[in-house]
Amino acid sequence: MAGPTPKNQFSFSRVKSFNQCAAAYRYRYLKKKKEAFRSVESYLGNVVHDTLEWLYHERDTKTSPTLEAAVADCERRFAEKWAENIVIIRIDEQRSTYENLGRDLVTRFHQVTFSKDRSETIALEQRLALKLTPEIHFTGFADRIGRTAQGRLFVVDYKTSKSVGDKSEFSEGLQAPLYAHCALKRYGDHEALAGYHYLRHEKTNWISVTSKDGEAVMQRFTALANEALSATEFPATPAILCAWCGFNNICPSAQVPEKFSGGLRYAEASQ
Ligand code: SF4
Repeated sequence: MAGPTPKNQFSFSRVKSFNQCAAAYRYRYLKKKKEAFRSVESYLGNVVHDTLEWLYHERDTKTSPTLEAAVADCERRFAEKWAENIVIIRIDEQRSTYENLGRDLVTRFHQVTFSKDRSETIALEQRLALKLTPEIHFTGFADRIGRTAQGRLFVVDYKTSKSVGDKSEFSEGLQAPLYAHCALKRYGDHEALAGYHYLRHEKTNWISVTSKDGEAVMQRFTALANEALSATEFPATPAILCAWCGFNNICPSAQVPEKFSGGLRYAEASQ
């Protein structure tokens, strides 16, 4: 769980949160409430991201890690960072399911992508920031910025989600193009590739982003951030994601199916 976000800092996640469920947005960004739990899926995502960052850091500064070393790194991080408030939302699952999934994702990434990757790394976990208006500053973290073997600038975001995204705004339409726009400004290129690498599918969806495209996505993002900034009503939008929402124990509109009630049970027990 991250610390409170400053009032004028708008990330893609913040704008997405407002559009997914304005009530959750209000709890998190305006009332600055702490979520009662962290889902194991979010935890696993962080662990795998950290291992991927380590792989490229080692490759670029020392020697390229073997498959065994990559898996061992993921296993170690999963065990070391585990905390009491990390919960298994799907009550029929076990912690070992997610440990095994982490091993599997890292194994396939190493075998299919990393071992063949000849691209150059420019930055890992790069913080991006851009002042859009006095009240709206864009912030984000790009998982990896680099150049292809042909010298083309790219930004890639790793996804551990089950499904591959689509072109809609809160799936693939905005996030990586926003990051590409920041990279274009920083490195002075006129075109970049913005990619989503889906680890469960070992597939990367690339979008070409020109300087003009980047300006357009940033304008759209500014409009969306303005909507959130000027909102006076914050209606709840109950959906399956309520099970993963760390405010589901205090939200009167929460709808949590029994089979996904691990978080809610934990939150209620710790009240
Ligand atoms: S529990 Fe559901 S409806 Fe309530 S804030 Fe969270 S996501 Fe929104």
